[in-house]
Amino acid sequence: MNALFNNYSRRPISLVEGKGTVVTDSNGKQYLDFTSGIAVCSLGHAHPSLVETIKEQSEKIWHTSNLFESPGQVVLAESLIKNNHLSHALFCNSGAEANEAAIKLARKYTGKHRIITFENSFHGRTFGAMSATGQKKIHQGFGPLLDQFIYLPFNDVEALQEKVDDSVAAIMLEVVQGEGGVHAVTEPFAQAIQDICEKNSILLIVDEVQTGIGRTGTRFAFEQTPLKPNIVSIAKGLGGGFPIAGILATSELYETFGPGSHGTTFGGNPLAVAVAQKVIDIVFEQFFLEDVQEKSNYLLQKLHETLPKDQFAIRGKGLLLGIDCGMDVSHFVTEAEEAGLLLVGAGPNVLRLLPPLTVTKEEMDEAVEILKKVLLTNKRGWDITSFK
Ligand SMILES: *Cc1c(COP(=O)(O)O)cnc(C)c1O
Repeated sequence: MNALFNNYSRRPISLVEGKGTVVTDSNGKQYLDFTSGIAVCSLGHAHPSLVETIKEQSEKIWHTSNLFESPGQVVLAESLIKNNHLSHALFCNSGAEANEAAIKLARKYTGKHRIITFENSFHGRTFGAMSATGQKKIHQGFGPLLDQFIYLPFNDVEALQEKVDDSVAAIMLEVVQGEGGVHAVTEPFAQAIQDICEKNSILLIVDEVQTGIGRTGTRFAFEQTPLKPNIVSIAKGLGGGFPIAGILATSELYETFGPGSHGTTFGGNPLAVAVAQKVIDIVFEQFFLEDVQEKSNYLLQKLHETLPKDQFAIRGKGLLLGIDCGMDVSHFVTEAEEAGLLLVGAGPNVLRLLPPLTVTKEEMDEAVEILKKVLLTNKRGWDITSFK
């Protein structure tokens, strides 16, 4: 026991240094970091341009609050809405907070309260975001939740059509459910959502907290689907490891958040904005995004070649990939870690691969070698009595 709350099952290593994809623990052991701090450190650890930006900005000004003009926020907002249908941004500090803003904006604009979300979704841990999350285990012990959320099965067009009426303010989804097991929205489902939203004047909220900022090989994952969201929430990859988040919205929502309607003390402070701007300048370059797609194809091909199809299902988009092992994966995570590869689970049975977007071919080769050893040895030697 130590002085911290016990709300995480932390692994018994502490990482003290990182450079690119490689992190070092307090015993000097090195690992390939295929967690990226849960899809956060998209440019790897200690990226020279980000280090330089933090140094420079930290000598100018860190925090001013939103009492004053923020030219940096304006430029960052412009970068995020360039080449898409979105028109305004608001900055905050975390994914849950971004989703809170999205929910408040949708409720205020429509004057309605019902929001449809999906089973196995994950939208964060604050009350609104937790209530939006379609997972009982996340709600446990905290009820009564914010009501008016309806959880429907993901990728089920009929179930959605049955529940939609003019009392619905918004539909909210992840393009690839990250925490919930790396399940991507299907094309027909995305099309059905888009049609339903347009026909019934329902707002569409896409939670891109995990999928956004190049993670899936495009600026935002919705670009690869028929979805045309009214509100997009972003966070994880935006600051490359520095906390910053936000929402982007279409122009008709502009008036809804007038002075005094919503805010945050820390949101979009100059230090966070400077780092995020540098991240966006790098990641939103076409050649960078194409490179992410190439890496994704390479990694997918290697995984398909290595892991037998009848035992492992490989899913995901870009560099948000999942290996469904059909069994509890916690011991795989531990064994990969011992062999020098850091992974994170997604749901009980799925290993999630979230390397930095700057990962090299050699690093992917090495990771697949470790996965091969860990997964194939164990799959064969799996002893059912050792599982509860
Ligand atoms: C991580 C995550 C969140 C919550 O973000 P926090 O920064 O932890 O509050 C919300 N939605 C999705 C899709 C996420 O992956």
